[in-house]
Amino acid sequence: MSIEKLKESIQNDVENRRNQLKELSLKIHSNPELGFEEVKAAGWLTEYLKENGFAVEKGICQLKTSFKASYGKGKPAIAILAEYDALPEVGHACGHNIISTSAVGAGVASRLAVDEFGGTVLVIGTPAEELYGGKILMAERGAFSDIDMAMMIHPGTGDIATTEALACQNLEAEFIGKASHAAARPEKGINALEAIIQSFNAINSLRQHIKSTARIHGIITDGGEAPNIVPAHSAGKFIVRAVDDAYLDELKEKVLNCFIGAATATGAQLKYSWDEVRYSPMLNNMTLVRLFLQNMQSLGRSMSLTEEEQAFGSTDMGNVSQLVPGIHANIAIAEKEVLVHSPEFAVAAASDRGIEGMLDGAKAMAMTVADVLSDSEIQKQIKEEFLNPQ
Ligand SMILES: [Zn+2]
Ligand SMILES: [Zn+2]
Repeated sequence: MSIEKLKESIQNDVENRRNQLKELSLKIHSNPELGFEEVKAAGWLTEYLKENGFAVEKGICQLKTSFKASYGKGKPAIAILAEYDALPEVGHACGHNIISTSAVGAGVASRLAVDEFGGTVLVIGTPAEELYGGKILMAERGAFSDIDMAMMIHPGTGDIATTEALACQNLEAEFIGKASHAAARPEKGINALEAIIQSFNAINSLRQHIKSTARIHGIITDGGEAPNIVPAHSAGKFIVRAVDDAYLDELKEKVLNCFIGAATATGAQLKYSWDEVRYSPMLNNMTLVRLFLQNMQSLGRSMSLTEEEQAFGSTDMGNVSQLVPGIHANIAIAEKEVLVHSPEFAVAAASDRGIEGMLDGAKAMAMTVADVLSDSEIQKQIKEEFLNPQ
């Protein structure tokens, strides 16, 4: 069969499953589950994959709600990643119901390419993207060691084939001071609140002299008990983000110095810890990206290569993209004004436009699987680019 004919069959396969995939997406949407608690979603997704001939392994990498479903055998092994966790309060305001059903639709349609050319297609269920960076744990535990490439889509407000995501690490800091009567004996107290305020001010000064793509932000989670008591304890949570790992290391040291300086100035004792989970920047494999882009365009969706107005977040897909060639493409399901993680975006994730985005994502990913499996030259190019990044 010609690749064109095969791609047509892939589109028909997804189209024929329109109602099933829509129902699955809406079911996950109306049953939002937080990270590592996605029992229902993981159950429904794996059930569907099993019904469609995939060999399913649940709870891989010691994570209860993860899964690995595979079809075919041998190399290359192409993984399509599924996220299905929701957010506290706002439910599926990041549209992970669309990511997971699109992945499942793509996986099932990719069987046509596997039957024709050989190789393996996997749908890997990666829990807790939002709260714990589940893919980072899975990457450390070898989930991606046997695969050759990984792709996923994410709903958003623009059709963009690449994602700019920053390296990122969280910091928790607290200051231990000494309580005292704030009016009668202020000279006996050590003010832990002042220490954290000074830390903020020092970070604000630092911010003038960092790279424009870097980000530092934080909140105070404890600022004292009562205004007439010198605060004996303060605490805050901070996030430091940078365009690459080397700059993140540099920035982490500078940020920490802001806290050390504040401790010295106030006499409060600093305690801090960097989160064990560290997000890596996203490495877009441009060979894969271009194939995906062409397939999207052939479906009538005008997708751009990069974002005009770059927005920088972080995603645990960044860590996967450092291990194997990867893409994380964005599919528009709402207007530009709608903010991801807002209640309005949760509505979009269940809208007709959301369903169309999910189906287009499934088609384009499966068509990209077909491109890769059909051509060993393409496979070489993808690997070559990954091993020798520009
Ligand atoms: Zn999100
Ligand atoms: Zn998300």
